[in-house]
Amino acid sequence: MKVQTEQDFGTDPTKVRDTDHYTEEYVDGFVDKWDDLIDWDSRAQSEGDFFIQELKKRGAKRVLDVATGTGFHSVRLREAGFEVVSADGSAEMLAKAFENGRKRGHILRTVQVDWRWLNQDIHGRYDAIICLGNSFTHLFNECDRRKTLAEFYSALNHDGVLILDQRNYDSILDHGYDSSHTYYYCGDDVSVYPEHVDDGLARFKYAFSDGSTYYLNMFPLRKDYTRRLMQEVGFQKIETYGDFKETYRDADPDFFIHVAEKA
Ligand code: SAM
Repeated sequence: MKVQTEQDFGTDPTKVRDTDHYTEEYVDGFVDKWDDLIDWDSRAQSEGDFFIQELKKRGAKRVLDVATGTGFHSVRLREAGFEVVSADGSAEMLAKAFENGRKRGHILRTVQVDWRWLNQDIHGRYDAIICLGNSFTHLFNECDRRKTLAEFYSALNHDGVLILDQRNYDSILDHGYDSSHTYYYCGDDVSVYPEHVDDGLARFKYAFSDGSTYYLNMFPLRKDYTRRLMQEVGFQKIETYGDFKETYRDADPDFFIHVAEKA
C-alpha cells in the first residue's frame, strides 16, 4: 500500500466537500501528530468518566468504537472493563491505535470499515456504539448520514445506545468562532482554528508548534438537525449534553454529546 504523507486538497480546498476524502486527510504525518493534538492525559482529565458512566448506567458490556482514531476511547474503555471492538475507515489511524494499545498492554481488536457499509464487516450486535471526537461531521451529504446512522442502528442490540458527539457548529455559524474556547482534546502545542465556514463547510486548520499545519474539511452539523436525523432513523430517546453537562446555554458549549437510545 502506498503511504501518503502529504494532505492534498487540490487548488481550491474550499471546494472539497466529499465524504470519501477523509482517508486522504488523515495522512501519516497528521496521524503521528494527532496524539500531541489530543493529549491523552488532559483529555482523560477533562472528560472524566462521563462515557464510562453513561455506558455503565445502561449495563453495556460490548462496545463498538466506530471512530477509533488513534485509540484513546478504545483503550480507556478496555481499561474500564468493557469488551471493545475498534473500527475506523482509515488504515493509518487503526495502525496507530494498535501501536498505542500495545504500548499500554492491550491488543486492540481492529476492523477497517467505512461506516456506510459497517455491517458488511461487523458481525453480531453491540450494547453500545461510540462515535466520538467530532467524527460524524466528516459525512458531507444527507444520504451518507442517514445510511451511516441506519448501519449504527442495526449493529446495536434492541436496547442499545449510540453516543455521538459533535462540535457546537450552531455557535460557530451564528456567532463566529470564539478563540478563547479551548477544545477539550487539544494539547498545548497546537492551535485549532476554522479558517473557512459556510453552511456547507467548516475547514479547520491545525497548526503545530513545530510549524507544521494540517487541515480537516468538515460539514457544519447543526445540533437539532443531528437529533432529527437520529430520530428519523428510529432512535427513541435522545439526550443532548453540552460539554458533558445536562443544562447549558446553547451558545456556550464547545461540544454537544448526543446519547441516543434504541428502545
Ligand atoms: N474518535 C477519535 C478521537 O476522538 O480521537 C478520532 C476522531 S477523528 C476526528 C475522526 C475519525 O473518524 C478518523 O479516524 C476517521 O478515519 C474516521 N472516519 C471519518 N469518516 C469515516 C467513515 N465514513 N467511515 C469510517 N471512519 C470514518
